[in-house]
Amino acid sequence: MSTHAYGAHAADKPIEAIAIERRAPGPNDVQIDIAYCGICHSDLHQVRSEWPGTLYPCVPGHEIVGHVSAVGDTVGVGCLVGSCQQCASCGEGLEQYCTNGFVGTYNGPTPDAPGHTLGGYSQRIVVDQKFVLKVSHGEDQLAAVAPLLCAGITTYSPLRHWKAGPGKKVGIVGIGGLGHMGIKLAHAMGAHTVAFTTSESKRQDAHDLGADEVVISRDAAQMQAHAGSFDFILNTVAAPHNLDAFTTLLKRDGTMCLVGAPASPHPSPSVMPLIFGRRAIAGSLIGGIAETQEMLDFCAEHGIVSEIEMVTAQQIDAAYERMLKSDVKYRFVIDNATMSA
Ligand code: NAP
Ligand code: ZN
Repeated sequence: MSTHAYGAHAADKPIEAIAIERRAPGPNDVQIDIAYCGICHSDLHQVRSEWPGTLYPCVPGHEIVGHVSAVGDTVGVGCLVGSCQQCASCGEGLEQYCTNGFVGTYNGPTPDAPGHTLGGYSQRIVVDQKFVLKVSHGEDQLAAVAPLLCAGITTYSPLRHWKAGPGKKVGIVGIGGLGHMGIKLAHAMGAHTVAFTTSESKRQDAHDLGADEVVISRDAAQMQAHAGSFDFILNTVAAPHNLDAFTTLLKRDGTMCLVGAPASPHPSPSVMPLIFGRRAIAGSLIGGIAETQEMLDFCAEHGIVSEIEMVTAQQIDAAYERMLKSDVKYRFVIDNATMSA
């Protein structure tokens, strides 16, 4: 079925209206009328070929909320729409680490034309029901729920894995789409939450989001005051930067988990702060389907949604430019109704 979408035909081409085809739903599929789609920094990395392997046309979007066509149930789709279901990772509900390769919501392999998946910058999507999440937030909050499907789960999963909670001191680095959710979630889990930002203008917001303390990461004296004190640091920064400034803030046996995926590498971290203190640098990828549902339910229970700025489909490129300047509070969300024109 022909569907209005927005995407790019090449890395240096603008995001524009594209007509795409969605498959007819099979017996295990759910067809969803998309209401809203968040704009993740990964969309920008992918559509502009900052990461290798982008296939065109590229229709990004993996923070999808909407309604099951003709039924009306409120649902979400995140970064995953398929996995082998047979490997050990899939068996443990960790489909994102599928050893045979998961199918991403965009740029993933599919038998459907054009041979790769096309994401949520579109009016409709057809997804295997195993990868469809149930949304229990109020209908009036739907747009602000969309970013939970990537920014929410990508911060929730490592915070749970490294046991953020009462008695733990947790840092969140970079207060963008992921980072602002990281603050809300770490705070809700009961951790002493410290926000690190390069933007003085975000200081008050970070407190309002739930940070107990806010550190301007370019200020060496403010950083030094926290040396050796963190159990866990979640680093969401989308650009290469000096990791040593943060590893030295970890306690003995502390971990900094990187979720930011910059287009070019960070400067190599120094070994000394790692070996003196048995500190670790780790990584984490989104989250599995069961954990994504757990996160959505946790957020509904704790009244957590994203802070959003709504845009039209025609404003996506302008939104990307603002994200590159860290000028978004704190997630752009597309009103997909603006795609029908
Ligand atoms: P975003 O909204 O653009 O936020 C990134 C934040 O990083 C900015 O708001 C800014 O925060 C900080 N920052 C940007 N440039 C910086 C620089 N040069 N030096 C220091 N800080 C800088 O991006 P996002 O959507 O949250 O995504 C963040 C990264 O995570 C991207 O690389 C994305 O691809 C990746 N990602 C990974 C996963 C995963 O599964 N691992 C999932 C989703 C996204 P301040 O103004 O507070 O400094
Ligand atoms: Zn994302």
